[in-house]
Amino acid sequence: MPLSRWTSKHRTTLGRKRKDDPQNKSYRTPPKPESYYTSTKGQCRWCGNVITKEDGTINMRKSWHEQCVDEYMIIYHTREARKHVYKRDKGECNYCGKNCGRRRWDLDHIRPLWEQKGVKEKDLDWSYWSLDNLQTLCRKCHKEKTKTDTANARKSKKVIYKRIEKFK
Ligand SMILES: [Zn+2]
Ligand SMILES: [Zn+2]
Repeated sequence: MPLSRWTSKHRTTLGRKRKDDPQNKSYRTPPKPESYYTSTKGQCRWCGNVITKEDGTINMRKSWHEQCVDEYMIIYHTREARKHVYKRDKGECNYCGKNCGRRRWDLDHIRPLWEQKGVKEKDLDWSYWSLDNLQTLCRKCHKEKTKTDTANARKSKKVIYKRIEKFK
């Protein structure tokens, strides 16, 4: 997505306090890094590193690296994640190969996110939210997978299976 359009959309969150962020409450989205809540210009809100211009000086007009925007969006904005996955999978179900077209497919986390539930922030496995852990599934296969995942959750005596059932 063009960085300019996106930056203006997110200006409202610049400098917001971490504890006010509603997204931090669900295990399905990992807490954002401290740097996200900075209001210092010229520092990336995702990786926390300085953003430099071509001549090596700090770019005080920017708050994101271009590649960091993509990483961020894939984690926190489902629509953006779907765009990336569609570009890669072309709407083809990863289980049965059915072509679902542009919209009629589900975005699935290969290793289910509940495995990260209750994990301390410093121990979180961020690869759970990466493009590599996302796949295209048709509705039918997704249903089947959710069933299996839920059964596995039960087997491993994770109490959260109740919550998963609620999401069905
Ligand atoms: Zn960055
Ligand atoms: Zn399928």
